Parts: sequence; C-alpha cells; structure tokens
Amino acid sequence: MTKKISVQALQSETPLVFELSRAGRTGYDLPKYPPELQPTAALGNLARKKAPRLPEMSENQVVRHYTNLSVRNHHIDKDFYPLGSCTMKYNPKVNEQMASLPGFSALHPLQPAVTCQGALEVVYLLSRALAEISGLPAVTLQPCAGAQGELTALLMFRAYHIKHHGKPRRRVIIPDSAHGTNPASIVIAGYEVQELPSGSDGLVDLNALKNVLDDDVAALMITNPNTVGLFESRIAEITKMVHGVGGLVYMDGANLNALLGIARPGDMGFDACHINLHKTFSTPHGGGGPGSGPVAATSALEPFLPTPVVRENDGTYSWDWNRPDSIGHVHAFFGNFAMQVRALTYILSMGRDGLRQTSEAAILNANYLRVKLEGAYEVPYNTPCMHEVVLSGDRQKARGARTADIAKRLLDYGFHPPTVYFPLIVHEALMIEPTESETKETLDEFIDVMLKIDGEITANPQLLHDAPHTTPVRRLDEAAAARSLDIRYFKDR
Ligand SMILES: *Cc1c(COP(=O)(O)O)cnc(C)c1O
Repeated sequence: MTKKISVQALQSETPLVFELSRAGRTGYDLPKYPPELQPTAALGNLARKKAPRLPEMSENQVVRHYTNLSVRNHHIDKDFYPLGSCTMKYNPKVNEQMASLPGFSALHPLQPAVTCQGALEVVYLLSRALAEISGLPAVTLQPCAGAQGELTALLMFRAYHIKHHGKPRRRVIIPDSAHGTNPASIVIAGYEVQELPSGSDGLVDLNALKNVLDDDVAALMITNPNTVGLFESRIAEITKMVHGVGGLVYMDGANLNALLGIARPGDMGFDACHINLHKTFSTPHGGGGPGSGPVAATSALEPFLPTPVVRENDGTYSWDWNRPDSIGHVHAFFGNFAMQVRALTYILSMGRDGLRQTSEAAILNANYLRVKLEGAYEVPYNTPCMHEVVLSGDRQKARGARTADIAKRLLDYGFHPPTVYFPLIVHEALMIEPTESETKETLDEFIDVMLKIDGEITANPQLLHDAPHTTPVRRLDEAAAARSLDIRYFKDR
C-alpha cells in the first residue's frame, strides 16, 4: 500500500517510503466459529495452510489510502473530462444501485434460465431498446468493447458473404480519419485495409469512394458523425454506392451521443453498427474496462449473430443456442451483464424524449465551445459540428507551445485535457467533447482557461513546457509506463 505522496516529494524525486503495512495490525477479524462451522471446513485439504501475505493495516488506513488514490487521478466525479471520442459523461448513481441489486449481482452465469427470468428480461429489453435507437433489429450484447463489436460485425459480414456467395471478399475501406481500432479489427478479421482520403470539407469524397469500389470490397466502415465531429450529409448516397457493388456498410457507432432520437444508422442504410454502452449510455469506463459494445444489424445478418441470442415467448425468456450460421461465441457467457443493467437503467430513466434531449444538449454544448474558442484556436472544419469539436493547435505551435503542452497545462487548472493528436488528419489536433452533462458555468470556466492558456503561450511558453506544475507526478514516460508495467506488491514474486 502506498503512502499519500506529497507533491514536493515527487517533484524533488526524493526516495519515498511506500510501505504502510505493519506486522500484526488488523482492520477486520472474521467471527470466531466453532471448528465444524469454520468457512474453511468445507474446503478440506484445499484450505490454505498458511495465511496469505497481505498488507496488514487498520480499516482507517485502508479507507484513507483508497480515498487519496481516487483523487490523485482525474475522473468524471471530480471535474470536467472533455476527452473527445470517449463521451466521458456523468454516470448516474442510480445505474450503480440497479446493477448491485442482489437479484442481478448474485447470479451465476450457468444458472438455468427459469431461475433468472428478470436478468433475461434485462437482456431482451436492452436489445429491443438498442434496436429501436439504431433502427437495426438484430442485436447482440456479447461484445465487451467497441473494438470487439467491430470485430464481431466484420466476422458476421465475412460469414454473410461466404453463405450467400460462396467466398469472403478481400478488402474493407476506411476513411483516413478512422479510429485506430478500425484498421486493427479489419486485419484481425482477415481483411485488407483500404484507406480513403477525406475531402477538403472533412467528409467522404464520393469520387474517391467510387474509384475504390469493386466486387472485392467486403465493406465500408465509417464513423458518423465522423471523427472531425461532422455529420456525413451524403450518407444515404454512400451506403447505396457500397450496396451497389454487393458490399456491406458498417457504422462505427461507438459514440451515438449526437444521434439519439434524432437519426438512426439503420435508416441511413447501414447494415450493422456497434454501440458503446460505456460512452453514450452512461456506464463507467476507463482503466481498461469493463466495457460493453453491443452490435445491432439488419435482419439479413441476424443468423450470423453470436450465440446464444435471447428469445421471448408469451412472457417467458430463453436462450436460443440452435443457430447453425452463427459466428459462435465472442465473449464468455453473455457479455458484461452489469453494464447492460446500467445502460437499461439509463435508457428507461431518460425515456424517449430524454434521450433526444441528451443529444440536442451534447450538440449545443460542442458548438458553444466551438464558437467561443474559434477566435483563439484554429477550427479546421469550421461548420456547425455534432457532439464534439476538433481544434488545431497550429497557431499556438507557431508561438512556441505544442498541443501536448496545452494538454498538460489544462491539468494545472483541474481539467482533464481533450483527446490530442487525433484524428490524424488534423495538425496538432485537440478533440473536445463536452457531453450534455455539464453546466454552462463549467463550459465557461473551461473556455476561460483555454483562452488564458493561449495568452500564457505568448507571455511565457516555458511555463507550458514545464507543465503540469500541480499534479502528484509531472510528465511521465507514457510508453515505458505501458510497456514496463509493474503491478506487483512484492518484488520477490
Ligand atoms: C471508443 C471508440 C472505439 C473503440 O471502443 P472501445 O470500447 O474502446 O474498444 C471505436 N471507434 C470510435 C470512434 C471510438 O470513439
């Protein structure tokens, strides 16, 4: 267990005392049972012979330790977190309450369906809600991330072409603004990536698309609104062109935050999309999970959905395992079920009108930031945006501070930085997604800070090069932190 670390200690790189454990100190004792009722009695010779080596601390110390840790990092319950493409919206606490109801949290995945009808009803209702929201009737909740949803749908596309035309096609087209998971999923699904240059308006260039379409194209995979925050206004034409050569069209619907109750991927001609519950539907994310990336698809793709699929018959729910054309399982059991409970809670508590209001407010907030910041920061595609706005730090770079410096300086003011250097087609990109869950006062504070930082660059760029000044740790070697991760408590194991 680590000690609360003072800012000065880390900044002066003084060796720290991390160990808080003291032999014999306890936080909690198990009740003293008679020997025959000891919880370990049933384990027989599987019971531990020796106590595990765990830190020995008082309950008080443990609570303080985790409370202190929780505020050393930035999180959505602490302050504004405008991380573009991630939809870091507030996670209503009622979602957590529902997910922790014993009837949900104490279930075993191998329990017979007759004993957990309520849980199956959650799966069924959420599937129906996502079908309605996306305009695509066939839904699986199994994928546990957006990236896994992409892979699932691409494997379904592959199975579809094999079933109907005897062999899979070879290429999948993605725009040059695509999210990094898109090319990765394409390659893992056994396809070749074909990149499509965006037009000068930041949208798909129809002529460029026409030039790459042929009968070896399995699919076009695009994000709408795209990663520069713009709605693909010619989407109906685009999906029609791809269908014209027998290809399928996939929407990266990780962020549906601009579309709820306003527009549906199915109505735009898409064949499938994934939907990140851990973005649009207010379930928590960060630190690598848990996530949930359901896929919605047309009825023509339904036979290929992962197995099992939930069915309803006269108010009774069951799992359908008999699906000969299915691509199989993509996740253990039925996906991250607690995330499904949270998302359904959110959808039901918002209702149809509430969901539409969500998207309208998300779009309004992003445009508010765009208009307030366009004087100081370059907006490369300066037309009304959707739920996020992409700025370029080119002007600031010319004055001596890069986007990375701006991002670090924002931490000093208590805000999480926006997404930086993505999409790749914008120089020094700053991708800001305010979400609907922020007040005008918070947005105004953020705007003031962004303008103030712009002024600081003119006055003293070094101040930004040295930022952050107030965080527990300064600039980290992020690559080393990811590659040489050390999460062991004891050095000798
Ligand atoms: C977040 C995101 C993804 C990937 O979702 P994960 O759950 O992180 O795998 C894919 N595409 C876009 C546009 C995203 O924003």
